Amino acid sequence: MTTTLDLIIEGGTVIDGTGAPRRRLDLGIAGDRIVRLGDLSGVPAARRFDASGRIVAPGFIDVHTHDDRLLLDAPQGPHPKLSQGVTTVVTGNCGISLAPLQSSGTPPAPLDLLGTGAWRYESFGDYLDELEACGPAVNAACLVGHSTLRVRRMNRLDRVATAREQQFMAADLDAALAAGAIGMSTGLYYPPARAADTAEVIAVGAPLTKAHGIITMHIRDEGDAIADALAEALQIGHALGIETVLSHHKLVGKANHGRSVETLAMIEAAGRKQSVCLDCYPYNASSTMLLPARIAQSDDVRVTWSKADPTAAGRSLFALARERGTSPEALAEALQPAGAIYFAMSEDDVSRILRYPATMVGSDGLAHDVSPHPRLWGTFPRVLGHYARDRGLFPLETAVHKMTGLSAGRFGLAGRGIVAENHYADIVVFDEQSVGDSATFDQPTAVSTGIEAVFVNGKLACQDGESRDLHAGSVLRHGGAR
Ligand SMILES: [Zn+2]
Repeated sequence: MTTTLDLIIEGGTVIDGTGAPRRRLDLGIAGDRIVRLGDLSGVPAARRFDASGRIVAPGFIDVHTHDDRLLLDAPQGPHPKLSQGVTTVVTGNCGISLAPLQSSGTPPAPLDLLGTGAWRYESFGDYLDELEACGPAVNAACLVGHSTLRVRRMNRLDRVATAREQQFMAADLDAALAAGAIGMSTGLYYPPARAADTAEVIAVGAPLTKAHGIITMHIRDEGDAIADALAEALQIGHALGIETVLSHHKLVGKANHGRSVETLAMIEAAGRKQSVCLDCYPYNASSTMLLPARIAQSDDVRVTWSKADPTAAGRSLFALARERGTSPEALAEALQPAGAIYFAMSEDDVSRILRYPATMVGSDGLAHDVSPHPRLWGTFPRVLGHYARDRGLFPLETAVHKMTGLSAGRFGLAGRGIVAENHYADIVVFDEQSVGDSATFDQPTAVSTGIEAVFVNGKLACQDGESRDLHAGSVLRHGGAR
């Protein structure tokens, strides 16, 4: 039987996402699938895309995002994810998900990082249904946030949840998993979940075990107390017996620089008795809500947004405090609610963590910030250009694996992340020589270079940075739930 091909991507060199060496292959696509691989010259097709001299790879999977709300919009102009070659995102990280939570006001920070006015989903299934109905720009695999469940079920957040509240949260998670959520995320570092203890997380997360869900964790401390925080996260994953993802692994504060040697050794040891992996963004600055406690750990702090003083966005907190004759801590209080970028990591740790075999790439970008961290627009081309090509941290095949096949395998995204027959046609075509990030701390939304074409489910979604189809994505429901 012969299938009529809708599209042939021809002449390119395929890096297939498994980490295997590159090969010369044409791709034959019918509908949303890759159906033929090989020399397809002379094979008829409705359209042909010339990828001569270019790398053809699986579309990138951004395993760490806060795109819950971005996915509901179809933004004008270039798209922060498509323009990087990203075709799938994992949402709901760090304990923060848009659903299930109905609120007419603004929920407490850091939930407000998802923006305002979209807290309207009483059930997780409602959110997935709406996402599916509007057609997201990229594929979405969605996590339920533990902090969101706490805000939904608890009248105050400064204590451990009662047994009854834990049961309610577990039932919410169970329903979300049945609707297609892929797992749960936690953010024990953040105020809404700081009072939760280890036992609470294990009790709330109990439905993950039977459903074979995943847990991603923004651990309780990434500074002086990181060893204890890491041990707690590993204990939670081990108790639940599920895949455990340590989110945006990093070491914050000068006193902790270099300690990735110790933390990666802990992860390596744990990996012998449980399934654990991690993600990382390729920058030595972090970004989240403006937290006075983080200021002293940082060489510089940049304001990304402020409700109280919108003019502060993009400015150095230290410079602004000097101008105004106040302390950075007092200014941080006055700017609330607000977000910031913190320069508090060492490049050696970033490189060491990125190179670690179980490390995937996740942007952690914050799409609703006025002056966002450049990781929102530059993460994936930066790994390919700066880290793989220019610095030689690893071969390009390894870089691609860390953003495709490794990620799809760990997150259970069937048929994604590898160029193979019968897999979905999520494809990026890029120029190995010119691929790179353009976004900087001063120009945070500059479009990356070298990403020539991006196909989502067989449809041309982005070409040379310009969006072509903002609705080609699918909701990737866990276990094929509907
Ligand atoms: Zn986080």
